[in-house]
Amino acid sequence: MNKMNEKRSNLTEDELKVGQYIQKIEDLKDNIIEYLNYLTKLDDTTKNLWISDIKEFYYNLSSAWMKLEHKNLEDSKNFLYGARNLLSKIISELKIFQNENSLKLVENVEKLFKKCWDAFWIVFKISITEEITAKSRETVIKVSDLKYHLVCAECGKIAVEFKIGYGRFDKKESLVFRGITHERSLNIKLAYELFEIFGEKNLLGIHNFMKKYHGYEGLDAFCPECNKIYCWEHYDAREEYDEGFYDCTYGICPNGHKRIIDD
Ligand SMILES: [Zn+2]
Ligand SMILES: [Zn+2]
Repeated sequence: MNKMNEKRSNLTEDELKVGQYIQKIEDLKDNIIEYLNYLTKLDDTTKNLWISDIKEFYYNLSSAWMKLEHKNLEDSKNFLYGARNLLSKIISELKIFQNENSLKLVENVEKLFKKCWDAFWIVFKISITEEITAKSRETVIKVSDLKYHLVCAECGKIAVEFKIGYGRFDKKESLVFRGITHERSLNIKLAYELFEIFGEKNLLGIHNFMKKYHGYEGLDAFCPECNKIYCWEHYDAREEYDEGFYDCTYGICPNGHKRIIDD
């Protein structure tokens, strides 16, 4: 305990608050695991899967905290998003049992996580305000004849990449799309049509292209109502689960427009 205090003495008050919430969530995590262990209605395989979800959730959260302590904000945020997605999965699992105990656990963990999330963001915002400066950036960036980037309208981070190359599982060259929710390889023959649209800097055109050749949700990072691109953070993307299975990802843009961005 003393050692911990020593190590953390150079942290700000806001940062310490994050740590306190995480300790509380750690206890709650143990309660949930205990609850699942005693749940007779659940077979062992499912039980183990759900318990590992909770452990992974906590691992993500404590990693976010560790990264925050080391001032590595990008990694910290990514772990925090990971934790939020896993929590949404866990809650969908716990909700299958509509009994008093499980509903109480859901309520507690939701409440505590919300507080912890807000505490994280207080620290992020203090550290980030300096970074957001020049806002006159290009949305569409031609990196080369084979590669294009789309950047977030809020922060200027690269949100989407299209390139001719190899996706993770590709054996032949494809038109590789990497958005904020997933990566997909499309037929390379489509590149000509797409790059033409890129030349016009027509975001809606790119969205419609993706609707036509990829899926109904179109370009995941695009808000049609704003006609803007947002990164995962600024689209406030969150995964939804139904009884433990991935359902879809919603995005809510900074102007409050909500849509399903991955299904
Ligand atoms: Zn952004
Ligand atoms: Zn919008």
